Amino acid sequence: MTTSQPPAAADTEDREHYRMLIDGTWRDAADSRRFDSVNPFDGTHWADVPLAGEADVDAAVRAARAAFDNGTWPATTPARRAQLLRRLGDLITERADDLARVQVLENGKLIREVSGQTRALAGHCYFYAGVAETMHGHTLAGSVPDMHVFTVREPIGVVAAITPWNSPLALLLWKLCPALAAGNTMVIKPSEITPVSTLLLGELITEAGFPAGVVNIVTGEGATGAALARHPGVDKIAFTGSTAVGKTIAVTAAERLARVSLELGGKSPNIIFSDADLPNAVNGVLAGVFAATGQTCMAGSRVLVQQNIYDMFAAALVERTEQIKIGDPLDPDTEMGTVACQSQHTKVLDYIAIARDEGATLLAGGKRPEDPALAKGLFVEPTVFGDVTNDMRIAREEVFGPVAVLIPFTDEAHAVEIANDTPFGLAAGVWTTDVARAHRMVRRLRAGTVWVNNYRKTNYVAPFGGFRESGLGRENGMDAVNEYTEVKTAWIDLGNRITDPFNPRA
Ligand code: NAD
Repeated sequence: MTTSQPPAAADTEDREHYRMLIDGTWRDAADSRRFDSVNPFDGTHWADVPLAGEADVDAAVRAARAAFDNGTWPATTPARRAQLLRRLGDLITERADDLARVQVLENGKLIREVSGQTRALAGHCYFYAGVAETMHGHTLAGSVPDMHVFTVREPIGVVAAITPWNSPLALLLWKLCPALAAGNTMVIKPSEITPVSTLLLGELITEAGFPAGVVNIVTGEGATGAALARHPGVDKIAFTGSTAVGKTIAVTAAERLARVSLELGGKSPNIIFSDADLPNAVNGVLAGVFAATGQTCMAGSRVLVQQNIYDMFAAALVERTEQIKIGDPLDPDTEMGTVACQSQHTKVLDYIAIARDEGATLLAGGKRPEDPALAKGLFVEPTVFGDVTNDMRIAREEVFGPVAVLIPFTDEAHAVEIANDTPFGLAAGVWTTDVARAHRMVRRLRAGTVWVNNYRKTNYVAPFGGFRESGLGRENGMDAVNEYTEVKTAWIDLGNRITDPFNPRA
């Protein structure tokens, strides 16, 4: 791996060393602590990075604060901000293979998916470059005579971006592009499972020419994220991760009324009506719950199947599930890689045991694969449970692994009732050839995204976010601009005299 970072402290072991980005320089932690990135496919400790403590977080926030308060970034013209975002998009395209490969080494996702996802990141840079140049307020036609009233959108200030491991760069770009377009500065804390890919992106940010301090990256664990979230110099926290941590961040932010957006977990329903194109729906269910080894927030992990096709659909799904090719995530033919880390592996196997104890019927998978060639990897077979009821833990709690549960329903009203009976509300899928039903379902499902006859599509133009415990706020599209700007209203008096100081309406 080539890196433009200066080499970290010499070490005899055969692993790559990285530093973090603070105020335009590549640094070790103040107390020199480090931690490893572990490849979940073969267990190798292939890289190490600094473990940032309070002092490092403070230095990063101060750098971002200075770049904001002295006008380095907010006073940079929108045209120049756009130019730098476009340059970043170009560099991402040039380095897409490296960026994709490193993400696979970190989290075991398929190169087959990550390659395309990484190349698509440039589109976010280009889209928000256009937003930077065209973002505007409004002139308001008021009923107050001789007043010119208008709004301007201003950046919030220092944004802390705290990200998870399942799509480390995509979920970061969802924050970084609108935040920088609007004139905010940033401190990024990537997941401890996937720090290196974010540091490589930091190299591209530096190479693109963003001024020092505009984007800072601190690597570390939950404690590093907590130190960042509670730092008084942070004006806004943009978090993607688990609902449990998201709630603690909301409490921390509330203490100083910092702005906050939360993209959290889900237990999304994927609903198959008997009038659906069933072979397509089987593929849609596979894509919804087994892509990325089930480690997507939007996973369609509750598969609701209409009673009159339940047995036939279950059989077709099981047959296809058992054909999924598990293996090396860097092999383009592989259809399912590992889960990302040991704790996740234990959690998924624990949930499989819970489902059995609750009385669900195991229809496919349910254990580690037996192939000795896969013994070192954190693999779990793609797993399907039948005879599940919506009150079971396996139907209510997010597994974040390759586990689908099948729940039968009778009619449309019953499907809606089950689908909405969840603390979450991130996404939903509907499979039907009845266009009126499709529209009715879109309206009745309580979720931030509803796909009809497809699943797991996202794009920079389309807002994404959750209802209820799936989060607060929206990423992507023009809605994301609201998350990174304050609206200021200006009243310019065109010649009124203040005749009654105690009655503003006079
Ligand atoms: P996580 O909540 O464990 O960690 C997310 C990030 O928060 C990491 O960087 C972690 O170091 C940091 N963190 C942990 N404790 C913290 C604390 N007390 N204060 C501040 N930061 C802290 O989540 P994860 O395991 O990395 O990711 C999986 C979760 O993310 C799943 O629940 C998944 O549904 C969710 N997710 C949601 C979306 C979405 O867009 N809604 C997308 C991807 C993942």
